[in-house]
Amino acid sequence: MELTSIKTIKELKSMFDFAFSKGLGQNFLTDAAVLDKIADAASGTEGVLEIGPGFGVLTKTLSENFEKVVSIEIDKSLLPVLDYTLAGCDNVKIINSDFMKLNLKELIKNEFNSKKISVAANLPYYITTPIITTLLEGGYDIENIVVMVQKEVAQRFCAKPGTKEYGAISVLCNYYTEPEIVVNVPAGSFYPAPKVDSAVVRMRVLDKPSVLVDDEKHFFKVVKASFAQRRKTLLNCLSNGFSKDKETIKNVLEAVGIDATIRGERLGVSDFAKISDEMLKNGIK
Ligand code: SAM
Repeated sequence: MELTSIKTIKELKSMFDFAFSKGLGQNFLTDAAVLDKIADAASGTEGVLEIGPGFGVLTKTLSENFEKVVSIEIDKSLLPVLDYTLAGCDNVKIINSDFMKLNLKELIKNEFNSKKISVAANLPYYITTPIITTLLEGGYDIENIVVMVQKEVAQRFCAKPGTKEYGAISVLCNYYTEPEIVVNVPAGSFYPAPKVDSAVVRMRVLDKPSVLVDDEKHFFKVVKASFAQRRKTLLNCLSNGFSKDKETIKNVLEAVGIDATIRGERLGVSDFAKISDEMLKNGIK
């Protein structure tokens, strides 16, 4: 059964009386070459976790490339379809759940014997950022995160300082991982076709974050405040975000050699780390 074929998708749709849900981001991949690229980019672990199998097109490719696949699908009406399309894929386990409500630590322990896993998914776009944030901030044993997301979102994940795509999410991704775009995927490579183009991003999770900070929570508060008002200077953003007078913040920035008049989007991960540590030294929380 060729799950990338639109004809097969239509046949399965009518066979199981399935209705695509726009709300759940159900746009199924129809490009076999992209499936191989995702599996290849995620390789290096025995186990792989998939979010949102749909009709099982990526699940099947993953089952051929990994020892064990666990796949989380929120939509109950897809379960009989997956039973049918994945018949014979004995190393695949489907769990009917909302990914956001899952206890991922328990799942990794029970399903993968606490071994490092990869995550591979053609993500439902309405929930991309919460999923990535959960995966990165949770401290799970993950080696690679390989996800299909909206093209502009992929560019933001991988953006470097000084570009218009660079924001708090870029800092988050570059703090925990080495992100890179694997391949761009046009809207026409999905059925039904979405309105936007997509891209596959690979994030290789670092053993240790890319910089050392005294307090991670404070570091991310600094990052958030620095991007809260993109047109304002770093000085104004930090002064507003931490409810401190400008003189106090100016002294902090001077101490770490950062120009108070620049905008946050020019700073790299290590600059935010320096600012955060210096603020803490001065009791600014
Ligand atoms: N993997 C398939 C493919 O590549 O063709 C389907 C991908 S489709 C873009 C996203 C899938 O995620 C759908 O099957 C949808 O039902 C599922 N999904 C949406 N929200 C979810 C959630 N919160 N937890 C788990 N699965 C979800």
